[in-house]
Amino acid sequence: MQNTNSDNLTADPFTWITIYRAENSLEANIIKGLILNDGIECQIKGEMLQGALGEIPFDQAQASVQVYAIKERHARQILVNYQQVKQSAPDWVCPNCNEHNGSTFEFCWSCETLKNDKSK
Ligand SMILES: [Zn+2]
Repeated sequence: MQNTNSDNLTADPFTWITIYRAENSLEANIIKGLILNDGIECQIKGEMLQGALGEIPFDQAQASVQVYAIKERHARQILVNYQQVKQSAPDWVCPNCNEHNGSTFEFCWSCETLKNDKSK
């Protein structure tokens, strides 16, 4: 579909680019959910390694969130927004199942109860 006339492309637009290094796979999944929610394909790399600690250097056990290079700018905007919300809003506990949720979750990741359920 696309030809190779790519003067302004320095890299393959469908190369996976790491846009965020999460502290753990839970945070990585939060980011992934936000990005997917905006219609951007997303994958988490390194998550599997957390189950096999021992010979693996610690920093490689972190979960990296990756998107295609062509979506990098868009995804980074989501990240900026996420980090602003993260700093300004507290995490919350699901009133239904008591699961701990990041502030950026609109729904409980566990049971999908709406965050502000009782306000409506
Ligand atoms: Zn819940």
